[in-house]
Amino acid sequence: MPELPEVETYRRFLHELAVEETVAAFEVKDRHVLATDEQVLRTALVGRRITGTSRLGKNCFLHLSDGHVLVLHFGMTGDVGAYRDEADAPRFTRVALHLGSGLRLAFIDPRKFGRIRLAESVEAYQQAKKLGPDALAITTKQLHTALSRRKSLLKPALLDQHLTAGLGNWIVDEVLFQARIHPERVAATLTEAEFSSLHAAIQLVLRTAIKHEANYRTFPASFLIHAREWDDSATPGTDAHRFCPRHRDTEIVKTYVGGRATYTCPICQPEI
Ligand SMILES: [Zn+2]
Repeated sequence: MPELPEVETYRRFLHELAVEETVAAFEVKDRHVLATDEQVLRTALVGRRITGTSRLGKNCFLHLSDGHVLVLHFGMTGDVGAYRDEADAPRFTRVALHLGSGLRLAFIDPRKFGRIRLAESVEAYQQAKKLGPDALAITTKQLHTALSRRKSLLKPALLDQHLTAGLGNWIVDEVLFQARIHPERVAATLTEAEFSSLHAAIQLVLRTAIKHEANYRTFPASFLIHAREWDDSATPGTDAHRFCPRHRDTEIVKTYVGGRATYTCPICQPEI
């Protein structure tokens, strides 16, 4: 599932190719992914210039010259691509934006859970969807304020997109491992120092994932994700990936928190 790091990688790709380009045509191959009427989208897009891009959580925005934004949400299997000739259109292209340069941008989505819609602005969309601040932009103070009111468990609170947008299941596990906090702590009981560690870990995990273009196999060996994916890329030919990178004789444990698969180190992240 495309999480914040994948979506940021898609955004950079689109930014590189689309900014300052004019939309020449809006081609719909499968209406299923449209959350705004096709004709409304075509009228809003064709002839408009793309002035910039941005991202909020797992949503990517193309900014249009009249102030509106095209919102891309990638669902379970969404991706982006670019091509020039119809014969080269990627498989499962559902919608294509034809640019003035002749390049075509593809919204690719095999399972069709992704959505394309028009919004008045990023702020209007954020309000309508009640999304919190982006996880990469949230400050320690905002995180502290939002969590210190929560009597719920920490992991479900961090997954709540109203609190902060863009933290998915594996990301929250990695963040809590890096911050050495148990996922079933009550959010409001964290200390000042723990809030700071949590904020630093969110930055570390997201920035690392974006730097590696969300290819977890190339993540540092100090990351928990290798245990979650049973992947020995970071420690080839050994079973070290099944153990805590800090406590080499302690096996990473899989449990369920709020119904979601959760990985922790019992030594690094004690239950209090
Ligand atoms: Zn450990």
